[in-house]
Amino acid sequence: MEQKNKKEIKITYFFAVFVALLIVISLLLVVGSSRIDTSLTKMQDSTEAYIVEEESINQMREVSDYLTEKCQAFVATGNVEEAEAYYKEVDVDKRREASLAAIEPYGKEDGIYTSLANALKASNELAEVEGYAMCLAAEGYSLEPAEVSKDLTEVTLTKEDSQLTAQQKRQKARNMVFDQSYEDKKSEIWDSVLNSTEQLMENTRALELEYYESAKHRLIVQNILMALLLGFALILLFAIAQLVLLPLRNSTEYIRTQRVLPVKGAAEYTYLAKAYNTMLQATQKHHEILSYEATHDVMTDLYNRKFFDNKREELFGEEVALMIVDVDFFKSINDTYGHEMGDKVLQKVARILSSSFRSEDFVCRIGGDEFAVLMVQMRPELKHVVESKIAAVNEMLHRRDDGLPDVTLSIGVAFSSGNAKDPDSPDALFKTADLALYKVKEGGRDGFAFYEDKEDTEVTS
Ligand code: GH3
Ligand code: MG
Repeated sequence: MEQKNKKEIKITYFFAVFVALLIVISLLLVVGSSRIDTSLTKMQDSTEAYIVEEESINQMREVSDYLTEKCQAFVATGNVEEAEAYYKEVDVDKRREASLAAIEPYGKEDGIYTSLANALKASNELAEVEGYAMCLAAEGYSLEPAEVSKDLTEVTLTKEDSQLTAQQKRQKARNMVFDQSYEDKKSEIWDSVLNSTEQLMENTRALELEYYESAKHRLIVQNILMALLLGFALILLFAIAQLVLLPLRNSTEYIRTQRVLPVKGAAEYTYLAKAYNTMLQATQKHHEILSYEATHDVMTDLYNRKFFDNKREELFGEEVALMIVDVDFFKSINDTYGHEMGDKVLQKVARILSSSFRSEDFVCRIGGDEFAVLMVQMRPELKHVVESKIAAVNEMLHRRDDGLPDVTLSIGVAFSSGNAKDPDSPDALFKTADLALYKVKEGGRDGFAFYEDKEDTEVTS
């Protein structure tokens, strides 16, 4: 009975699958965005490291140049302040060592640190030359080395140099800090510093590129996931709208007008629709049977007395004709042939009557062997039509090809417009038709009479 449509989708399963998908994609998005965040943080760290390392490299070069400048100034002029500034840097400020220490956290193994350490080493080697030259110069300017800096007390001049004149000492000191070998040592420091800078550029560029590429790939994946999330969410919304909301919205109109629901939509909805349709059809059928039984006579299938009474009241005021038909001596049919045969005779009369009138007329069984026909749009001028109908009924009734006993009918007819006696009563038409019938019965039966609204009603046999 219940056919399972293979195309039907269970919206609850569909919903569960899509919500699970949406949750998985959302989790992937969260993980992805934290990875992008990591890449960006690494890029930021790399930039910070670059800044620190670049400052350190610059400082190493600047301080080295500063020491050269101070040393050369002292050797050239004998100005003690220059030497003091020199040793303040070497002993107190120690900015070269600080530069190297600053980049230590970013890795001692990489080329930047090694190159800068080489620069410091070369600078320290140069400082020994400078110290010797400044000691020589101090003596050349007739200054006590201790007056200049305590560091100079630790310098011991060679025997040969100690014996030089003041002029020669100044000259030799000048040569030491301006000659080619000094410049070569200086170049060694610059080369190391330059090397550090190149290494720094290279490392930073490589790192930034790596983090940028990784962030870019992750962004592409995030975009794809976002598109999937949006796509699945839209599919889910569309499916819910199409399979549940639309059928539900449409069904209210069908239910309001008591029509069968269309079996379309999600499996859960179609199940409800089918159940509702089955109940609706059963109720409608039951209702039809009840209303048929309330207005019909079960034995003859004609309208019953209740229907007849309602209908004649309903038609009150319109031009109608009422014909009352009674089977003559029907009791004796029952008595002679039995009740069953009596029923068959009644059914025959019913069949003949219902086949003899127009579909808009109402043929009713109003008593045991009594029938009534309400003919609509009938006026006394159309009496001949009624007469020919009665003739046809009688003709059919007397055909004896069915093995039933022969019966005759007594018929009384009245027209609503011909009733001047009591035109305001709905019962008047019935009373007058019954009166006409009574006349026929009185006159010996097997005939018909029209109620004439005058003293005598003429009976026709
Ligand atoms: P009259 O010519 O005066 O009409 O005589 P009648 O014998 O037809 O008299 P009456 O109208 O009194 O009798 C009707 C009989 O119809 C009485 C009743 O037993 C019988 N009858 C009523 N309903 C049914 C029915 O459904 N089936 C059968 N077989 N007989 C019925
Ligand atoms: Mg009778």
